[in-house]
Amino acid sequence: MRYHSSLQQAYQAGEPVDDACAEAIRVYKRALKGTKPFTPAPCGTAAGDARHRREKTPVCDPCKEARNKRRREERAKAKELENKE
Ligand SMILES: [Zn+2]
Repeated sequence: MRYHSSLQQAYQAGEPVDDACAEAIRVYKRALKGTKPFTPAPCGTAAGDARHRREKTPVCDPCKEARNKRRREERAKAKELENKE
C-alpha cells in the first residue's frame, strides 16, 4: 500500500493534497479504523427527508409522504394532550 502511505506522509507533512488525494486519505483512514462506510439515510423516512433538505436536493415523494405522516402523528399527539386538559 505504498500509494496510500506516501499520500498520508504528504498529508502529515502538511504538503498540499488535492481533493482526490484527500478523499483517498479519508477512505484509507476509515479502512484502518474498520468503520463502516457512510450510508445515506434511505428515502421514505423522516431522516431521508432531512437529508434532502441538508443536501438541498428536491424532496422525493416517498420522503414527502414520510414527513407528512410524521406531521400528522405530531398533530394527533398534540390534540391528544389538548383533550386531556
Ligand atoms: Zn427521498
